Amino acid sequence: MRPYTNAEKKKSPQKCSPELIEAIRELSPIERVIGECVELRRSGFQLVAACPFHAERTPSFYVHPGKAVFFCQGCGLGGDVFRFVQRLLNCTFRQSVEHLAARVGVAVEGFQPSPELRARVAKLTVQCEEEQRFETFSNDRIDAVNAKYRALSRAARNAEDCLREGGLLPEEEELAWAALERYRLFEARVEREGLCDMEIMRREWLARKGEGHRNAAA
Ligand code: ZN
Repeated sequence: MRPYTNAEKKKSPQKCSPELIEAIRELSPIERVIGECVELRRSGFQLVAACPFHAERTPSFYVHPGKAVFFCQGCGLGGDVFRFVQRLLNCTFRQSVEHLAARVGVAVEGFQPSPELRARVAKLTVQCEEEQRFETFSNDRIDAVNAKYRALSRAARNAEDCLREGGLLPEEEELAWAALERYRLFEARVEREGLCDMEIMRREWLARKGEGHRNAAA
């Protein structure tokens, strides 16, 4: 892959059809395209790498596959898969479409999506929507667990303070111990049931979806 020269960059005036652009976008998952240029490491929902656009020691270049965008916290560059190719190859938008089209073997000139391509794009769109739904599901779960943690740990800290200060009535003391126990039990449950573990959440998500289908069929 070599960057375009400025002369090459100038001669590429034609517009691409929106259908072509969307097809190429669906066929070019951002994490795969960028992963062919830099080494990506997983970090939660995102992938991280050393930025290809500025020199850095600590990786601050993030790729978010669910949102299909990249962003560098170091130099501030970001955008979608076409933007990435434009930056990388110093080319126009149209040339970035051509580059990605060639990558997946789609002809840009006189582009007419074949029924197979239409089907492929439709399937990928469904997968992408599924992935976004899973992300919402797991984000909600993590938020709920964190909120509960905060509430329980606040109560546990208060209880600890009260127990340390002493002078509690027996029933107050009982309540304080119960608050500490609730915190401990919740912590153990999060660990035991893997409430915030990506793999476990994904299994749970798939199982729930399966149930949804069965219920819909019934
Ligand atoms: Zn950067």
